[in-house]
Amino acid sequence: MQATTRESTGDTSRWLKGLLGNEKRWVRLSIAAGIFAGLMLVLQAHLLARAVNETLFQGAQLSELKGLLVMLLLALLFRGASGVLREWSGQRASVGVRSRLRAELLARLAQLGPAYSKSQRSGELSSLLMEQVEALDGFIARYLPQMALAGIIPLVILAFVLPINWAAVLIFLATAPLIPLFMAMVGTRAAEANRRNFRALAQLSGYFLDVVQGLGTLKLFSRSQEQQQIIADNADEFRIRTMQVLRLAFLSSAVLEFFASISIAILAVYLGFSFLGLLDFGSWGGEITLYHALFLLILAPEFYLPLRELGTHYHSKQEAIAAAERIIDLLDEQEYLESGGQQVLPESQPDLKLHQISFSYPEQPQPVLHNFCLQVAPGECVALVGPSGAGKSTVLNLLAGFDCPQQGEIRISTIPLAQLSRSVWMEKVAFVSQHTTLFPGSIRDNLLMANPQATDDQIRAACDQAAASEFIDCLAEGLDTRVGEAGANFSGGQIQRLSLARAFLKNAPVLLLDEPTASLDLASEELVLQALARLCRGRTTLLLTHRPATMRLADRLCVLQQGECVEADAALRKQLQEMVS
Ligand code: ADP
Ligand code: MG
Repeated sequence: MQATTRESTGDTSRWLKGLLGNEKRWVRLSIAAGIFAGLMLVLQAHLLARAVNETLFQGAQLSELKGLLVMLLLALLFRGASGVLREWSGQRASVGVRSRLRAELLARLAQLGPAYSKSQRSGELSSLLMEQVEALDGFIARYLPQMALAGIIPLVILAFVLPINWAAVLIFLATAPLIPLFMAMVGTRAAEANRRNFRALAQLSGYFLDVVQGLGTLKLFSRSQEQQQIIADNADEFRIRTMQVLRLAFLSSAVLEFFASISIAILAVYLGFSFLGLLDFGSWGGEITLYHALFLLILAPEFYLPLRELGTHYHSKQEAIAAAERIIDLLDEQEYLESGGQQVLPESQPDLKLHQISFSYPEQPQPVLHNFCLQVAPGECVALVGPSGAGKSTVLNLLAGFDCPQQGEIRISTIPLAQLSRSVWMEKVAFVSQHTTLFPGSIRDNLLMANPQATDDQIRAACDQAAASEFIDCLAEGLDTRVGEAGANFSGGQIQRLSLARAFLKNAPVLLLDEPTASLDLASEELVLQALARLCRGRTTLLLTHRPATMRLADRLCVLQQGECVEADAALRKQLQEMVS
């Protein structure tokens, strides 16, 4: 069990490094800047040791040291500048990777389709896209460059120390491994704490969004106080988890500081005893001068610093790994139709054929559809009738390719849906459901989604057809009116007519209509029905409904009963006709 965790952690960090792609050059620049800063540091230590040695012990005047001091200042400036460059290029890499990853995740969600998003909690998904992708920042911007630097800078320092004193090198080499060792020991605990922390955050985000969305309902049933308590409990849980992570992070820094200080103390003791003449080894037979001692003591903390910094950023790595695991899960999510097939549809008006389809949702034992057969001829309008929960929307999701039937086959113009290029199929379909989504932007922006190339005349014609012009013309800004959140400034009937205008504008040969008039008042329903009658003309249409008034649009009625489809007999049709008229 442990082996698999470790193995997958290795895979995850490999995946994280693979994310870099083009941004690798920024990480390299960051590393180069770090190495340059390291060299400046050695120069600075050398100049400082010399300056102190010459003024305090050789009696030199400050004026004689001008050149030295100017160089010291320059070294400081260069070191500062390379520090800035290092941070900047690390950020460049991180911003590039994060925005690419977000785009990839969004594209993935689009590919997986509404059936997947619906099965997930929106709050969790948004936390994944926002906070968890954000959590990769420290790993890319700081940990990755630091990992290289933690290997290189100590070696650079050793290379300068070795010619002066081999005993100091031995002290460095003997104590340095303690730091990564303890870092890893604390780090594995931190990884688990981070994972728990992300789970708590995702849960909190999901719950919070659900509650905010349902606030109206909760108020009506006087339940908001209780929910407040649950959110407070969730937030408290998240606080405790965050504190656990921080505790481990601080513990690891404290441990690293401790070992670095002990190592420096050992070096100081060695140098002190050497000066007292009690120790006489390490300086290649020569004498340890004050300059040497100062140089070594100034460099000693810097030798451990890259390792200690790595320790601090190790926490970012664990955070990134915990986040990456969930991101990878989403990217690996099996989609139906994989990338779709390659086949394109013939030019002729398509027909739809569902043959012996069986389908059940993962957690539900009872199949929703069982040996379901349905055909829609080219240009025909078929109404699929059934009570709420009969499985009508499920049929539509299958037809749109958002879900995959466990048995049976769907063919569009004799081509199996699985072999059809998904983008080609989506171009041929217009979709009107009872829940139309309007996006932030103007009415025009929302309509143009159906056909980005449409001219203003085409938009107006589509609005006329959809009976939307009459209310759009009454708005002060007409088509440029802003749409409030989720279309809050429009009535249900108006939103539905905008949705129809989209369908007119798309002018697709296949129409999938999911209860397009549900939850509309009678007057709006009549307007929408008239527009729908115009829309269905000449298009292959599958209309899902349980409203008798809407059924009159159809050429043929089919009834969905216990997962099977039965052709409505003449008697039922007549009965329905009477109900309508
Ligand atoms: P209709 O559109 O006819 O009202 P649906 O196709 O939406 O019915 O739902 C049919 C059945 O499948 C219902 O019993 C519903 O509870 C179930 N169902 C729908 N969507 C899901 C889902 N994502 N996960 C599990 N069960 C679902
Ligand atoms: Mg439905």
